[in-house]
Amino acid sequence: MTQDDKSGLLYPLLGLVRHRIGTDGDGVTTLVAGAGCPLQCRWCINKNLLKKAPAEMVTADALFDMVKIDDLYFRATGGGVTFGGGEPLLHAGFLSRFRSICSPEWKIRVETSLAVPSGSVETAASAADEFIVDCKDPDPVRYHSYTGDDAALMLDNLCLLRDLIGPERIIVRIPRIPDYNTVADREANAGLLREMGFSRLELFDYVTDRN
Ligand code: SF4
Repeated sequence: MTQDDKSGLLYPLLGLVRHRIGTDGDGVTTLVAGAGCPLQCRWCINKNLLKKAPAEMVTADALFDMVKIDDLYFRATGGGVTFGGGEPLLHAGFLSRFRSICSPEWKIRVETSLAVPSGSVETAASAADEFIVDCKDPDPVRYHSYTGDDAALMLDNLCLLRDLIGPERIIVRIPRIPDYNTVADREANAGLLREMGFSRLELFDYVTDRN
């Protein structure tokens, strides 16, 4: 465990993926894969990853040292660092600390399910430039069936985030989930999100052994 920063904030790091292009917003990005999530999604790959490679707890300073090698790429392309699942908003204070020590030219992006307390959303809203929200399926029955949790929390937080930073800084990913919803359900979900003011929608298929 790295202890070189005094904040006491640690991040459960599973690994880094450098030089990503076109997968999470503009520019060259480094994905910071983290562990831990409040949901229990049927098709989650994170749980299997954890079995193979336990998370390393790192400070914001230590993480900065790991990713700064790509500073020039980030600044030249409008890219930066993307925090991915697990659930980064479980560590909203860490995100704020990391934002405070990295270049303001780096874009900080967060992939999230928004299944977290609203206070975490408020903290992260001022730390990240863009959010990539995997909304699963907003239908309460299908959401609960797939995640084991309550869609109302996700939807309330999505509205909160929209009101805090504006829909133009939020990409909403809307999946077709094998065994849980259909292409028609996904279209209906996209319509709901458009009614809520979101235009940056990504419709896609989860890839599973049931496709
Ligand atoms: S939100 Fe992502 S990390 Fe969490 S259980 Fe679902 S698939 Fe896994």
